[in-house]
Order: sequence, then C-alpha cells, then structure tokens
Amino acid sequence: MASTPNPAQAAPSRRKAGRHRGEGQWAVGHFTPLNANEQFKKDDDGLNVRTRIETIYAHRGFDSIDPADLRGRMRWWGLYTQRKPGIDGGKTAILEPEELDDKYFMMRVRIDGGRLTVAQLRAIGEVSEQYARGTADITDRQNIQLHWVRIEDVPAIWQKLEAVGLSTTEACGDCPRVIIGSPVAGIAADEIIDGTPAVDEIHRRYIGSKEFSNLPRKFKTAVSGSPVQDVVHEINDIAFVGVVHPEHGPGFDLWVGGGLSTNPRLAERLGTWVPLDEVADVWAGVVGIFRDYGYRRLRTRARLKFLMADWGPEKFRQVLEDEYLGRKLLDGPAPDQPSNRWRDHIGVHQQQDGRCYVGFAPRVGRVDGTTLTKIAELAAAHGSDRLRTTVEQKMIILDVERDQVDSLVASLEALDFQVTPSPFRRGTMACTGIEFCKLAIVETKARASSLIDELERRIPDFTEPITINVNGCPNACARIQTADIGLKGQLVLDDEGRQVEGFQVHLGGALGLEPGFGRKVRGLKVTAEELPDYVERVLRRFQAERADGERFAT
Ligand code: SF4
Repeated sequence: MASTPNPAQAAPSRRKAGRHRGEGQWAVGHFTPLNANEQFKKDDDGLNVRTRIETIYAHRGFDSIDPADLRGRMRWWGLYTQRKPGIDGGKTAILEPEELDDKYFMMRVRIDGGRLTVAQLRAIGEVSEQYARGTADITDRQNIQLHWVRIEDVPAIWQKLEAVGLSTTEACGDCPRVIIGSPVAGIAADEIIDGTPAVDEIHRRYIGSKEFSNLPRKFKTAVSGSPVQDVVHEINDIAFVGVVHPEHGPGFDLWVGGGLSTNPRLAERLGTWVPLDEVADVWAGVVGIFRDYGYRRLRTRARLKFLMADWGPEKFRQVLEDEYLGRKLLDGPAPDQPSNRWRDHIGVHQQQDGRCYVGFAPRVGRVDGTTLTKIAELAAAHGSDRLRTTVEQKMIILDVERDQVDSLVASLEALDFQVTPSPFRRGTMACTGIEFCKLAIVETKARASSLIDELERRIPDFTEPITINVNGCPNACARIQTADIGLKGQLVLDDEGRQVEGFQVHLGGALGLEPGFGRKVRGLKVTAEELPDYVERVLRRFQAERADGERFAT
C-alpha cells in the first residue's frame, strides 16, 4: 500500500461510502470524528506536540499546556499526567479528569525488544535520580516508567535519553507502542530464529512516522523466535512467533487481534509463514488495515480485536494480501506448544557462545534510579555491556563469563534481586495502581510486595510455578485474565459493611501451554486485608488436591 501520511484528509482510493459508516472506519469513507479523541487527532497529529513542549510548555510551565495536548497528544511522547496524591479510589469515577491530575507526569521510556546497554541503563538511572524523585518501574511491556516528571525538565530528559539511543516516541497514544521482543533474542542456545533485525526494521521505518501516528487506538506488537514464546504473543494486536517451515526453514507464524481489558480476546493465527526479511512489510500491512478499517466510533470498540472478531482470520488474511501486500502469503505451520511454564528466563542459563545470561527478579518491577545505576555497574564489573527487561517485570544481564557468574549472583542477591526466587516473587506482577494512576481504585505495588513476603513466610514449601497478577482497576495492565490468580482492584464491603479496597478474583488463566482466560469467580471478592489469607487458602488447597503434573489452571 502507498505511504499516506494522513489518510483522513487524503481520502484513500478504496473509499466506499455507506457500509459500516456507523463504526467510523476511514476505509468506508467516514472521516468525520465521532468522539473527542478522534477530533483532537484530526486537529493535529500527536507527534507534533513535541515542538510545543520544547518551545512553549517547558518554558511557561504546566498551566500553559493546551488541554487537548495535556490529556491527549502528550501521550505520543510517553507522557501522562499522574494522579494527585491523597485522592482515594472511591473518587476515581466521580471526579473530572482535571481534578485527578497532578502537575507532574509519568514518563514511559520505550525499550524495544527490552534491549539495554550499560550506558542506557545508567542514563535512565541518572534521569530517575535527577528528574523523577528516584522512581523507576519496569513495566510488563519491557518499558521503564518514571514518575514526578516536571514539564520544565522534559527537554533535558529527552536530550539525555536520546544521547544514548533511547526515546519516549510513541511510548503511549493511539500509535504503534513499544515492540516487545524475546529478551534472549540472539543469545539463547535453543533459539528458533533471532527476531532482532525485524524489530529494528519496524522501528527504523515506522516509529515516529506519520504514516501510522493516527490509529483508532493503541497497537501492540510482539516478536519472538524463542521456543518458550516469551512475549505474551496471544494478547498482542500483532505477533510474530518463531516456527520452522518444512521447506523454507526458520521464520515466523503470524498472529493478529489479541488484547485484554474489558473484552479479552486471544489473537488468532492467519496460518501464514513470514520470513524474517518480510516481517516489517507484513507488519505495515496489518497496521494499515487497522488504521483504515479499524473502528473509530467508540473507544471501547476501537482495538483491532473487534475488527478481527467481525472479520475472522480468513477475511483478514485476504484483505491483507489483496489490498495491502498485493501478493499471496505462504501457508505455514503452527508453533509447537512451549514445554516450560516459566517463560521469564530467571536463573543462570548458557548462551549460544558458551557465556551465560543471568535473569533476576525485582519485586513487582519496582526499582529506583540508584538501584538501576548499581545494576549497570554490576553488569559492567562482570564483563557485560548488555541487559534486557522482560514482560514479567524482570531483568536479565547478558554475556557473563562462567567464572564471573557466582560473583554476579551474590552481588545481585545482596541488592535483593534474587536469581533463584520463590515462585511468589517470580510469578507476581502488579500494575502502577493508585499511587500514580488516575484510573486506579486500589493500591497495588506495595500490596503485591507484602503479599509475596507473607506467602514466602506462610508456605515456604510451595514450589509450583504460579502467577499472581494484581491490577488496580478493571483495565488489564497487569494481565489479570491470564494469571493463575488474577486480582482486579475494586471497592468491596468488609464484614461491617464498610467500603474498603479489595479485589474481584479471577482463577485459572494461562498463556503458553493451553492458553485461556481465568474464570471470574462469581461473587468472590476479597478485601485487601484478607488477601494473604485468601491466596494462602487457595494455594494450600491446590497443593493438597493436585494430581501429579496437574497445573493450577486445569
Ligand atoms: Fe492504572 Fe488500572 Fe492500568 Fe492499573 S490496570 S495501571 S490502575 S489503568
């Protein structure tokens, strides 16, 4: 398909007015914005806000920011206003956005493929210390988020990050977000194919390009050539999963239309095999379909999964081939089921080149600037210049010589970064929660961290892989529906009928082996205070009743 910077104005040739106008699809001729988000995107491209930040807002301060930039376009540069401290979760749905806004920002640093050098990690650590009150959280999409950022400091932060090859470009917003990649791409001994060149090519051609900077909603990408399928490919808008074609060799199986939130849906295979050097073209075709045919009327129906639900994989593939690629794709095999439930690369593992990579577990992704700098120094002191972040909010240090491993492991554990963590520390994730998120109803990070402590103390003999995902609201930033135990933050009634912070429980979700969404246990809500007792009871029952080899989800 031809490169079209702004199809809303350029009126693409396949416009067929009439059919499906109600969904606001550009490809059927509907260019009139049907909601406020579509309006501000049409008024000005999200990427253009950078110039105003640098030339106006950083000089005149927070109050000078145009509201459409503040709550809209600034996301295209990884900036969200954070929640004003002290507003309880009961007010989240009642207050106007401006009443919830603090005058500080969350800034998301985009880390495609989770790849970091020592210099980059050091730079993030320094930015955190200098401009973000020391905050830093590793997200479940391999990014690092900072908080307490002042608009006045944003240009200096960009300068520092960009000097080491990092950016915040399209880290949020209705555009292609960070490209998740296998955190052991190019190094794992059991790799099917290294997807790194594809991640880099998509980034080089399309990230920050106005061809795809106005999509119906966010667009999530994952690429993994690892047999353990370590990028949660089932819940991305598009995913390329390593497979070996019987005639053509290693390449990728294409998955489209996954996503969580309030209408979770697993991605579907289009049944096609994509060679490494065609991944970027196929990616652009799928994003083009989303841009042109994606639903723009309702934000709640604007993710690609809704189009996929209506079209199905056969029609999707046919439109991709006929209208966007102009050629047929090769049929291809499905990937094998991964053999291991843990997909996080924690522990010490041998690389292709005989050296080792060492995966370790920060608690629920929470670190800080000083600690990031210490991790960078530790990596450098043990001969490594490369690190990776994972989609489980964990980290990996690469390229460690065998004789350096013990010293590195001891140094990491001295910082409370365990290389052989308990299943609870290993398998628990938490979203940002009420500390900074304007949509949150409950606190998450501290609560999940103390849950880990409690479970380690109460059931030290529990050794099964288990995932416990803690969310601060009904959104799914911490992937509650895919966890063994998913906890969705909401206000619940305690024994005395008072409204307190608590969770709706979802049980038995999984990705990888036999993927499926957890069952919402009807009526099963626990207060935050009861949470350790409840989780302990569930795990003890599983421990006592499980048959040999039985997983929690079954
Ligand atoms: Fe915020 Fe809700 Fe996402 Fe947690 S799940 S980060 S509370 S929007």
